[in-house]
Amino acid sequence: MYDVIIVGAGPAGASAALFTAKAGKQTLVLDNDQSMTKAAWVENHYGAPEIEGPELLKTGREQAGKFGAEFVNKQVEDVSKTDNQRVKVETEDGVYEAEHVILTVGGSTKLAESAGIDTTDGSEPRIKTIIDTDDAGKTSMEGVWAAGTVAGVSVHTIITAGDGAKVAVNVLSEMNGERYVDHDVLKKK
Ligand SMILES: Cc1cc2nc3c(=O)[nH]c(=O)nc-3n(C[C@H](O)[C@H](O)[C@H](O)COP(=O)(O)OP(=O)(O)OC[C@H]3O[C@@H](n4cnc5c(N)ncnc54)[C@H](O)[C@@H]3O)c2cc1C
Repeated sequence: MYDVIIVGAGPAGASAALFTAKAGKQTLVLDNDQSMTKAAWVENHYGAPEIEGPELLKTGREQAGKFGAEFVNKQVEDVSKTDNQRVKVETEDGVYEAEHVILTVGGSTKLAESAGIDTTDGSEPRIKTIIDTDDAGKTSMEGVWAAGTVAGVSVHTIITAGDGAKVAVNVLSEMNGERYVDHDVLKKK
């Protein structure tokens, strides 16, 4: 049983996992290793003057893993509600449950559509359909949120990563019953 399950370990998913894991929430990230970022060479990500896509993905996983996020390579087949109002995530060979699920599945709405989650037209180039969310990132299925490319934000690593973080902060705020802030203070030398 997890607090948060994130489907997708691209910039949006790993960034969301970093926040939820660092906040002490039991976090599972399920990913099928099809990130579009694997093909990228990035020179426009603030704080990383130039970086290969695969290196950005690896660093993101390691950063979230340091705080306890668990990464598992699996294809997610379905998402649905359980009788006790949790969210069930079905993979090719296992079922997981969490209070909240964040879909950060990149360019495909196939999973959302098969789960009956509302989609809508995309506005970014080459992104025809996106998951319909409110400003916080909530989808039409209670407890299921979406972030990154699949939620319709501009297809750039800094923006999808930022959106993953934004939605994670909203999830954490709802779980904790107050707005969540994660500020570490510079250590005295
Ligand atoms: C060739 C190329 C060059 C680029 N160059 C730049 C650049 O220079 N600068 C820049 O800012 N951006 C660049 N980008 C864009 C950048 O990669 C994206 O904006 C951003 O990384 C997308 O992040 P994301 O997390 O939304 O999606 P993704 O990185 O695609 O991650 C989605 C993840 O979800 C997983 N997934 C999907 N469905 C399932 C499922 N059913 N079960 C389990 N896992 C699933 C996938 O395996 C994937 O890991 C480039 C993209 C490409 C293709």
